Amino acid sequence: MSERFTGNFTQQEPLPQASIDAALAVMQHGRLHRYNTAPGEQSETAALEVEFAALTGARYCLAVASGGYALGCAMRAAGVGPGDKVLTNAFTLAPVPGAIASIGAVPVFVEVTPDLVIDLDHLAEQIAASGARVLLLSHMRGHICDMDALMAICDAAGVQVIEDCAHTMGASWNGVPSGRHGLIGCYSTQTYKHVNSGEGGLLITDDANLMARAVLLSGSYMLYDRHDAAPRPEAFEELRLEVPNISGRMDNLRAAILRPQLRDLDGQVARWNRLYRGMEDGLADCPGLRQVTRPGGERFVGSSYQFLLPDWDAERIGALVERCAARGVELKWFGAPVPRGYTSTYASWHYAAPPTLPRTDAVMAGLMDLRLPLSFSEDDVALIARIIRAEVSSLWQAAALSD
Ligand SMILES: *Cc1c(COP(=O)(O)O)cnc(C)c1O
Repeated sequence: MSERFTGNFTQQEPLPQASIDAALAVMQHGRLHRYNTAPGEQSETAALEVEFAALTGARYCLAVASGGYALGCAMRAAGVGPGDKVLTNAFTLAPVPGAIASIGAVPVFVEVTPDLVIDLDHLAEQIAASGARVLLLSHMRGHICDMDALMAICDAAGVQVIEDCAHTMGASWNGVPSGRHGLIGCYSTQTYKHVNSGEGGLLITDDANLMARAVLLSGSYMLYDRHDAAPRPEAFEELRLEVPNISGRMDNLRAAILRPQLRDLDGQVARWNRLYRGMEDGLADCPGLRQVTRPGGERFVGSSYQFLLPDWDAERIGALVERCAARGVELKWFGAPVPRGYTSTYASWHYAAPPTLPRTDAVMAGLMDLRLPLSFSEDDVALIARIIRAEVSSLWQAAALSD
């Protein structure tokens, strides 16, 4: 009898009791809107912003309705408008080019390397060829490129960097928290990210003018003085009648749920990384399979795991997906001919008129992905790795024999 995994790849842990208690308190007093405060009260949302700014070392923080909203808001605040070109890595998730499209801007895609980070040589080429002044850098699946080299390229070319940290909340590069290298860092607090409020987003920056714009954009009316991680009211004087209100605020219920989770983040990261290292160990030296090299400067959050099947044809990868699925292991294949679930590729974003990116195509063709929810135990992960290892080995040996 071959082993079978019976766990669920999309099952979260319950929220911590402190989150449940805080949510109940908000529901009992009824003041869910962030500006609905009792005299002298700091709203849960304002408190969350102060705490997230402290956690990341940023001067300012704004909580918003989603990660995608944070990206669009960040670009608008940075002055990106209709028709402007925005550089972005081709290996990312649909909300990233979607955020660019939401402001009528045009994505300029950059190739990805086999280590799943933005290709810095191609970035330099695309900056020169496009004249784009903004890079929306997505740390897709938590893989962080050499941020010092990237910032050197962008600074030299006058390109502003907005970081999509949906998969890197709690991660860092050379000791600097992810989201703190560029001008603005954006995070998601959606259920499948590193803290869970169902939906939600956070945006951080040290730039007072940018943050004042972002606060006004998010729908602050003239209540911006109720933000405790925003610049002083003077920063809003010149802007308050100029910047449109594009409502996307966070509410106190979500903020209340998130605050205890932020306090637990480091411990959760350690747990994710034990699961991730379990996958790495279980698949070490598996013939036919290439693991992704994690650079020394990167402190990552292993909330998902990727591996590559270089030189495999599509039929054999399809067979692997089926065989693993039959044993309870859900592999997502980024190279599948039709997008399924979250695995769309740049070629399926027709509105963005994507060019062909041969290096990215070659990587994605054999790119496999699986989530590692914290509801998994280390034994679960060891079992998953054994199943993948057995199926990869058997298909790889069959291929070698038939060659
Ligand atoms: C989830 C995600 C987003 C958007 O976050 P939402 O909160 O779902 O809008 C952006 N980028 C990446 C890479 C994501 O995975």
